[in-house]
Amino acid sequence: MSDYRWCHGPRCHKSHTQDRIRGVKGSKVLRTRKIPQTQWNSNTQWSHFCSQGCWNDFAFEHWNEFIALHPRTEALETPIEVEVIKHPEHTNEYGWTRKAWTEKKINEVDNTQQNN
Ligand SMILES: [Zn+2]
Repeated sequence: MSDYRWCHGPRCHKSHTQDRIRGVKGSKVLRTRKIPQTQWNSNTQWSHFCSQGCWNDFAFEHWNEFIALHPRTEALETPIEVEVIKHPEHTNEYGWTRKAWTEKKINEVDNTQQNN
């Protein structure tokens, strides 16, 4: 298997690391990293990016294009029910007392069947 991709980080070739040095004396360069395609990075961003830094650089440079591709024109909503649970004052075995308190527990509701 010799399946590779070049790192898509726009500044990958600007990082001063030994493994990026290529060429002969007098005409040396820092080169974009080559990323071997493996079962571990296939279908992840790590098949196209050599590091978190390169992934971040790419995202910062192209975020407006991603938003143009995937616009959000309205808010998303998760159906919930709010359960009010009243907890009474409680003293534990060490003598510490917790005052009574009210918990608002959020439970997600599956409304998929109501929409049919
Ligand atoms: Zn990179």
